[in-house]
Amino acid sequence: MTRKSDTAFYPGSFNPFTIGHKSIVDRGLSIFDHIIIGVGYNEHKPVAEKDCATRIEKIASYFRDEPRVSVIAYSGLTAYEAKKSGACAILRGVRSVADFESERVLADINRRLTGIETVILYSLPEYESVSSSTVRELKNFGADVSPYLPEEK
Ligand code: ADP
Repeated sequence: MTRKSDTAFYPGSFNPFTIGHKSIVDRGLSIFDHIIIGVGYNEHKPVAEKDCATRIEKIASYFRDEPRVSVIAYSGLTAYEAKKSGACAILRGVRSVADFESERVLADINRRLTGIETVILYSLPEYESVSSSTVRELKNFGADVSPYLPEEK
């Protein structure tokens, strides 16, 4: 079977985008020629849309030297957005058994909706404990979160 396109759609809330997310994109580029990072937001919350624009700018800055990566915002169903973007697959990451279960459900739903397959990459061991929610929590308590965030270019 031939691949339908050379692009993957990497969806998430990326609140914030961490070194764990960056690693999935970097490694995904050894499989796909292009990766579209889709930052999902809730269109019924105007604040979320504004936050999303700031998030996109930041993520794009991490990939300034990598023309094979683009970043977009979306608010609809992931499977429809992935198809619309021309991607042949959804890219996701898995850190733990808990991630595995939720990713299995999402992959199944997305396949049922549009036929799109999901490619899962296991987290590198050194990023298994890195999560956006932990970074947010640490930040709320004034801790330095820079070790968990990609380097700005
Ligand atoms: P969502 O809001 O859709 O749950 P996130 O923005 O938290 O997603 O993450 C997007 C994707 O990246 C998910 O597949 C998630 O499992 C994966 N991911 C998040 N953190 C890591 C990490 N440290 N290593 C590998 N994959 C990760």
